[in-house]
Amino acid sequence: MDELRIRGLRVFAHHGVYEEETRLGQTFVVNATLFLSTRQGGLTDNLEDTVSYAEVCQFLTDYLQAHTWKLLEAAAEHTCRALLLRYPLLRGAELELAKPSAPIPLPFDSVSVCISRSWHRAFLGLGSNLGDKKAYLDGAVDGLRRNPDIRVKAVSAYRTTKPYGGVAQEDFLNAAAEIETLLPPHELLDALHRLEQTAGRERLVHWGPRTLDLDILFYDDLVQDDADLTIPHPDLQNRRFVLEPMAELAPNLVHPVLRQTMGQLLDSLPGEG
Ligand code: ATP
Ligand code: CA
Ligand code: CA
Repeated sequence: MDELRIRGLRVFAHHGVYEEETRLGQTFVVNATLFLSTRQGGLTDNLEDTVSYAEVCQFLTDYLQAHTWKLLEAAAEHTCRALLLRYPLLRGAELELAKPSAPIPLPFDSVSVCISRSWHRAFLGLGSNLGDKKAYLDGAVDGLRRNPDIRVKAVSAYRTTKPYGGVAQEDFLNAAAEIETLLPPHELLDALHRLEQTAGRERLVHWGPRTLDLDILFYDDLVQDDADLTIPHPDLQNRRFVLEPMAELAPNLVHPVLRQTMGQLLDSLPGEG
């Protein structure tokens, strides 16, 4: 990925743990590396096709001056997020925030916090088999769209499917969605759980009836398995109601463990069922 680099931007602002720091203010130094494709701007020579570094410098200055945080960590976190939300061409950013006049009674040059944040591509599974199923799926998509840290890129057709896992219940309505998100996997899962709760989901029987079920199917090429989160979703390769919408959205997406595309996984499912 191409980079646009800003080094040594000085901003007078009011962040700090001590009262004098927030009252008197001090100079902060910002280094930013913006990750984007410069190809279009490179070909057209038009400023509209890239991100203006002058504008970014002004944005960083205004943002750091408009807020007060105690910690450099918080200042960097919020500023980096605001930058990524403000400039859609950015895929990610590295932000270093230094405090050369930090209140440390020892000789030193500077202290800084440096973070990297980026948009991640994820696929979600959506399901409902209780009440107004279409309204629950529509509501989930709306809820995802309302979250500023999530951009919904595509939603598959809704499909009616027979229930899974041998619990007698109504048919499911299922779909998949492609999103981009600034949220790390566990924070994304928390956001999905909140949407399930808004839809009034009660966890009674595993694989039992539910108003709304939101699963993380893929998150970039991430492979992880811990107590609350397994990515890719461990059973997706056995589920037609997941593979059909996935093959619709991303037929050539390769499963990072099984090394097969969604199209191939769908084709290798046994029979109709
Ligand atoms: P299945 O995961 O087999 O589709 P389910 O969706 O009915 O079953 P739930 O009761 O909705 O299961 O979820 C139980 C827990 O599974 C969640 O609270 C979550 O911590 C955990 N979990 C693990 N991996 C994932 C994932 N990829 N997406 C969503 N939840 C997951
Ligand atoms: Ca599920
Ligand atoms: Ca689930």
